[in-house]
Parts: sequence; structure tokens; C-alpha cells
Amino acid sequence: MSGPLLKVENLTKHYPLGAGLFKKTIPVIRAVEDVSFSVEAGETLCIVGESGCGKSTVARLLMRLAEPTGGRVLIDGTNIAGLNKDALHAWRRRMQMVFQDPYSSLNPRFTAGQIITEPVENFERLSRKQRRELAADLLRKVGMSPEMMDRLPAELSGGQRQRLGIARALSLNPSLIVADEAVSALDVSVQAQILNLLLDLQQQMGIAFVFISHDLGVVEHIAHRVAVMYLGRIVELAPSEALFANPVHPYSEALIASAPVPDPARVRLEA
Ligand code: ADP
Ligand code: MG
Repeated sequence: MSGPLLKVENLTKHYPLGAGLFKKTIPVIRAVEDVSFSVEAGETLCIVGESGCGKSTVARLLMRLAEPTGGRVLIDGTNIAGLNKDALHAWRRRMQMVFQDPYSSLNPRFTAGQIITEPVENFERLSRKQRRELAADLLRKVGMSPEMMDRLPAELSGGQRQRLGIARALSLNPSLIVADEAVSALDVSVQAQILNLLLDLQQQMGIAFVFISHDLGVVEHIAHRVAVMYLGRIVELAPSEALFANPVHPYSEALIASAPVPDPARVRLEA
């Protein structure tokens, strides 16, 4: 296949502010403004920027959970806005999302096994035996014991719940996973485990990631390229090493300067 897996062209999202009853022009929040980037198969593109800069809006536009005010999202060259119901259904298998807060995104009354096999069951009927085999397989993929499949989310740790969110996203063998602040709610040590899991999964399965974080320290170890967002726009997009070594935009520089330094060797060097 030629061309990128995902191509985003001039994506824009404005939210109207109020009803504008008496005014001719309705003021808008420019949540996302003229954003363009592409992601190759098996690549990790990280989108970083401070809270409110438009990252989650980009994620929602990619997943068609919101309609763009302007611009296009292309998967393998196909505009997702033009997909009919059947094509949209098929496309949903290829792109999955992992959310920040696994607790609110997982049904608290479903067992772990039900949660992670549900996306597949939206496409095909599984026997009880098939469901349990699939659940066991997915749990192993994310480093959990198959015995966990009968637990409820409340009986799991934050890291285990985020592993479930990832297992659920993996269940349909997607080409691309959009992860929005997927490790931001976790302790630093658990964050590292989840990031390593994502790296392993990418190596094994060739999955591409759009990994969104407000924390530049988190993305350094997993990003191939980094897009820095500021006030709805991408102000810099560069290979990870180049960005960290030589940020061009002053805002990128400020983000790097204020990022926590997780590598103790670097702390010592700078001390
Ligand atoms: P981030 O994920 O980077 O924190 P968001 O994409 O959530 O940023 O938000 C970007 C901007 O758009 C913010 O000013 C936010 O208040 C606004 N916004 C996001 N969603 C909506 C919405 N549904 N309606 C109105 N404004 C919104
Ligand atoms: Mg957000």
C-alpha cells in the first residue's frame, strides 16, 4: 500500500459560543485550527501541548466522534466523512481509541472478559467458549492473567484497568490506536509499564499510534515524531530526537524546559 495510513488535512473545529440570538455573527471557540499531519503504518505520532490546546478535539475528529468545521481525515486515502454505513462499520475495526480514565470508560457492571470482547461481539456472535478464549488471549497480550476475566473493574488496579482499555482496543486487530492521555492518570512507575506495553505491542503487531499527552516527558520514549500544539494549531512537527535536541518553536522549547525529567542520569548531568 502506498501513502500514509492516516492523513489529516487542514482539520478545523469551531464551537459556537452561545446562541447568538441578537448578533449576526456568533462568537466561536477555535478549538482546532488548520491542523495537518500524517501517520505511517506502525508509526507513533505524539501530540503534545498544554490543557485546552485542542488535543482531545483532534482525537474526537479522528474517531468521527465529532464533525469537523473544515478539513478532512483520510484513512488509506479514503475520506472518512464520505463513508456510508457499511464502510463506516468496516472502518471502525481499523481505528480504536484508548481513553484517559479507564474507570469511567469501562462499564462497571461488566466483567473484564465481557469488556474486552464486547467490540468483537458487535461484529460477530461468539459462543461462551469462544468468548472466554478470546478474553484469555487478549488478557495475555496486555500482560494480565486470564484468571482476571471474571473480575469487575472495581476489583482491579488503575494500571490493570488501563490494560483492559488497551486489550479492548486490540480486540479488533486495529491498524491505528488513538490514545488520549492514556497514562496521565497513572503513577509514574505504572506509566512506564504501560508505555513499555505499547512499545511491545507496536513491535509485535505493527500498530500505529496517535498518542496524546500534555506531558512531554511521557512521550519522549515512545514517539517517532512529535507534533506540538498551541492554541488549536500545530506549531512544530519534528522527529522526536530533533525536537528534544533542538526545538525550533519557542513554545516547544518552553514545554521541554518545564517537562519533568524522568531519566536520573540526565538529572545528574544537569545538576
Ligand atoms: P485538550 O484536550 O488539549 O485539553 P480540548 O480539545 O479538550 O483540549 O479543548 C480545546 C478547546 O475547545 C478548549 O477551549 C475547550 O474548552 C473547547 N471545547 C472542547 N470541547 C468543546 C465542546 N464540546 N463545546 C465547546 N467547547 C469545547
Ligand atoms: Mg484532552
